[in-house]
Amino acid sequence: MRITDIICSEKMSLSFEVFPPKKETSYESVQKATEEIAELSPAFMSVTYGAGGGTSKYTLAIAKNLKDKYNVPMLAHLTCVSSDKETISNRIEELKENDIKNVMALRGDLTPELEKSDRSRWDYRHASDLIHELKSKGDFCIGAACYPEVHPESLCQRDDIKYLKEKVDAGVDFLTTQMIFDNNLFFNFMYKIREAGINVPVIPGIMPITNGNQVERAIKLSGAFMPQRFKAMVDKFGSNPDAMKQAGIAYATDQIIDLYANGITNVHVYSMNKPDIAKGIYNNLSEILWKTF
Ligand code: FAD
Repeated sequence: MRITDIICSEKMSLSFEVFPPKKETSYESVQKATEEIAELSPAFMSVTYGAGGGTSKYTLAIAKNLKDKYNVPMLAHLTCVSSDKETISNRIEELKENDIKNVMALRGDLTPELEKSDRSRWDYRHASDLIHELKSKGDFCIGAACYPEVHPESLCQRDDIKYLKEKVDAGVDFLTTQMIFDNNLFFNFMYKIREAGINVPVIPGIMPITNGNQVERAIKLSGAFMPQRFKAMVDKFGSNPDAMKQAGIAYATDQIIDLYANGITNVHVYSMNKPDIAKGIYNNLSEILWKTF
């Protein structure tokens, strides 16, 4: 099933993101965690692609297992910046052979080695290069990333939105946002991109912070703004794991309810291979999910 057919429904739904194991020895535990999340029957699940493509083979294996065993629509991520044309071509063929129709087309982060290397030798510089290739090689439903708080490499939001428009025009069917902790930033962003002529569906990405130690990493990764009430929650409960988990699930649930209440029907949760957190949020929304209001 194509992601756009799911997210254009009027029913409220949730999707979850998982990541593949970094090494073979953890494959079984990751598979088990992702299966527990799939048992919730989310709208779809996405599987990230290891930075630099190092653990890339597991992305497809995890996605295929969940699709075949649980019939959950799958979105496989694919990054391009550290790959050559041949590798990407092989990956695209593997996606087709395994009947994965939804692909999240990403550039990938620049590692320090890539930063130092000669860019004129890169086969792919931006996600849009990968999107053109996916478009020409199959009938994929293509997702791409967007940044309500501006991508860290962009000088200003005007440039970021200009390049986002070029990316969408290359053939993107939907966008998913970087994590946000303040929904107002999402709504402001929506206003600006619609004004710029970007009209594809946009799925807000919510990261439940359920562990005080996660905060620093989440900010470093995303540069996301932390509202005062979020900081107060971490200050108060961050050193008590059970309390922080409960508070983090409640904060994410509250954000999701606010998004639904303001016209968004699908929210993507960065569930980070944690079935208990996915279940906590899902249960909190039991009278809301799969309904129209
Ligand atoms: P791009 O769209 O190429 O944008 C990168 C930067 O280049 C931006 O500043 C943009 O404004 C600028 N730009 C774009 N086009 C042009 C152009 N033509 N000329 C000049 N500048 C341009 N990383 C992983 O490694 N694996 C994953 O699975 C993964 N999943 C992600 C999922 C989501 C929802 C998000 C938000 C991010 C994900 N990332 C993942 C991180 C992502 O790879 C990084 O944020 C990366 O730095 C940018 O990727 P992009 O696809 O947005 O790049």
